[in-house]
Amino acid sequence: MSVQPRVDLDTLPSYVAGRTVPDAIKLSSNESPGGPLPSVAKAIAAAASDVNRYPDNAVTQLSQRLADKVRLPVEQIAVGCGSVSLCQQLVQAMCAPGEEVVFAWRSFEAYPTVTQVAAAAQVRVPLDATLSHDLDAMLAAITPRTRLVFVCNPNNPTGTAVRRDTLARFLDAVPSNVLVALDEAYREYVTDPGVPDGLEFVRERGNVAVLRTFSKAYGLAGLRVGYLVGPEEITSAVKKVYVPFSVNALAQTAALACLDAEDELLARCTQTAAERERVRAQLCDLGYEIPESQANFVWLPLGERALEFFDHMLANKIVVRAFQGDGVRVTVSSPDENDQFLMAAATFPR
Ligand SMILES: *Cc1c(COP(=O)(O)O)cnc(C)c1O
Repeated sequence: MSVQPRVDLDTLPSYVAGRTVPDAIKLSSNESPGGPLPSVAKAIAAAASDVNRYPDNAVTQLSQRLADKVRLPVEQIAVGCGSVSLCQQLVQAMCAPGEEVVFAWRSFEAYPTVTQVAAAAQVRVPLDATLSHDLDAMLAAITPRTRLVFVCNPNNPTGTAVRRDTLARFLDAVPSNVLVALDEAYREYVTDPGVPDGLEFVRERGNVAVLRTFSKAYGLAGLRVGYLVGPEEITSAVKKVYVPFSVNALAQTAALACLDAEDELLARCTQTAAERERVRAQLCDLGYEIPESQANFVWLPLGERALEFFDHMLANKIVVRAFQGDGVRVTVSSPDENDQFLMAAATFPR
């Protein structure tokens, strides 16, 4: 007899990370193009001399700093090893086996995985014709077994964002015992004032949480740190299923250094948002249909030609993220890398 892992893991999709190809331009993981700011790199280097010590398991300093930033009590903050980890903790904290998690599809690839790992049931609700969340359909999908709803705003991978009134009406209708997690990994790139800051809803309601990350706008994808802002019952429950010490010391130090340099980092996001508009306009001129994006990537709804586009880009030493049958997601990077992408997009046979 051989060892027997859980049988249901056989059907678990493996997380497919953006590919890294030597010497190629990587536009597949929505990372920030610039390296860490000198002040952040210095803080990380200084913290390196203490790595024989365990990190602060309670993430005290960073949690307090985030609480000050969002102007809420520190009890309403939970820091995690990336917001992916917080997604998984949320499912574990909310759902008994078989209870339901509702999310849009296509959306963030981690939702199916974290739901299944926690032995909860996935309820996927197709995006609408504009590739946005269909909040009416998501509402209709809520049953007495539903415990958690993810709303990814702006949505990865389509870049579309739900507006304040639409979201408020949805939240009004969701039963008060169902938690709505607003995944705002790309919040810092939002330029449309009609797209709400989810924290507005955390302040007003007892069943809303917001997920944010240092991986994108703050450029710390390699260090793994994200946070959740929500009702205290939720943050306490999420902390119970936290893997001890998983937010490492370098990550805590680096996140604090990023908050010290926040203005500079947010200025980078403004540049990225401007590049996003330029890239989208040029793609539209080339004849591509590109939904408006509020994130640091654009979506090419190429359907069955997604892999062909991926291969074309790879031949041009550019790595993008393809979802065969749906489309291709391309990260907005530096002006130079974006130009190289646009040149290659112009030669894709259409
Ligand atoms: C990138 C991303 C995250 C953040 O992941 P980390 O674990 O914090 O690196 C969360 N949600 C969405 C939708 C993302 O695209």
